[in-house]
Amino acid sequence: MTEHLMSTYARLPVAFARGEGAWLWDNEGNAYLDALSGIAVCGLGHAHPEVTEAITRQAARLLHTSNLYRVPLQEELAERLCGVTGMDSAFFCNSGAEANETAIKLARLHGHRRDVSNPQIVVAEGAFHGRTIATLTATGSRRVQAGFEPLAPGFVRAPWADADALAEVARRRNDIVAVLVEPVQGESGIRIPPRGYLADLRRLCDERGWLLMMDEVQSGNGRTGRWLASQYEDAMPDVVTLAKGLANGVPIGACLARGPVAEEFRPGNHGSTFGGNPLASAAALAVLRTIERDRLLARAKELGERIAGGLGRALEGLDAVREIRHRGLMLALELDRPCGELVQRALDERLLINVTAERVVRLLPPLVLGDADADQLVDRLARVIRGFVGQQ
Ligand code: PLP
Repeated sequence: MTEHLMSTYARLPVAFARGEGAWLWDNEGNAYLDALSGIAVCGLGHAHPEVTEAITRQAARLLHTSNLYRVPLQEELAERLCGVTGMDSAFFCNSGAEANETAIKLARLHGHRRDVSNPQIVVAEGAFHGRTIATLTATGSRRVQAGFEPLAPGFVRAPWADADALAEVARRRNDIVAVLVEPVQGESGIRIPPRGYLADLRRLCDERGWLLMMDEVQSGNGRTGRWLASQYEDAMPDVVTLAKGLANGVPIGACLARGPVAEEFRPGNHGSTFGGNPLASAAALAVLRTIERDRLLARAKELGERIAGGLGRALEGLDAVREIRHRGLMLALELDRPCGELVQRALDERLLINVTAERVVRLLPPLVLGDADADQLVDRLARVIRGFVGQQ
């Protein structure tokens, strides 16, 4: 019964009643292997005992007060996040789009305070930054923008993964204050930039006095085998945004900053009623503790190799497979043809996957996946893909 829901989603005909680790059970008791983690959210899998314990303990004590008062758990979370990312300060909100809105506001304020009257932010082709007006404008997809004009001013588009093209933009303008990029583009098909691109961006931003802002909403929180995907290069951002995997399913977003921009906001410049409330902060702290205690960064890397390697062997010789690529547990299997129907075919095999950018099977499995489940993921997906290609 979806008639009272706005039809923003093409929903699959299945609902889940419970989950445990990498598995979900539907209302009929069928078990599904979850290779998507609610789109990179449940990095610790479903019903993780540490998170469940933190949430239930906190819910029994205090859900919410207000940012009009101090929130000790939020302060502790900010300290822990700054520790693992090298940032100096944090602002908490409730989603990835809001975290990016915060970054956009920070960059504009930073510009205005330096006498740039019409500050511009460079964004990449193929980017995805969210669905609010400013973040859909920053998003490099007409499909996301169409119908929602007028778009927001203040963004300049540059080609993806091409630092020379960006330098060319730099030569033409003097009103740029920041570059906002995903270190791995998620929605447009797990696009991994060539080695050196992020470091080149860092150098360019240093030369020009621009802020380097990384959208790590999808790639952050350990998913790629580092806390941040930008840590794969000498490319420490000035501003970084997080959400999705930060609290394993409890809504939260964060915008972190370092250096002078970390002190840009003054009281009244920005806010969020719910942002960083005790419940969300307790959940996020449990996630961070667990990732460290269980060494899940190394595990994400290892699992990524195992799944990508396994798929490569299982699909060897299949011409329809263009490329298998991954950074940790952001995995893509690109086919030579549109393959949206694979989602339903995989569901029939009790496997949850996603198809993005028309031809790319996207896998974002939980960091707690066991070896046997990783191998099962490979087997099921390879079977589905061979069946699909064979019938065409
Ligand atoms: N940025 C990136 C890189 C994303 O992948 C997403 C969501 O897919 C967002 C921002 C938007 O996050 P949210 O849906 O939490 O607003």
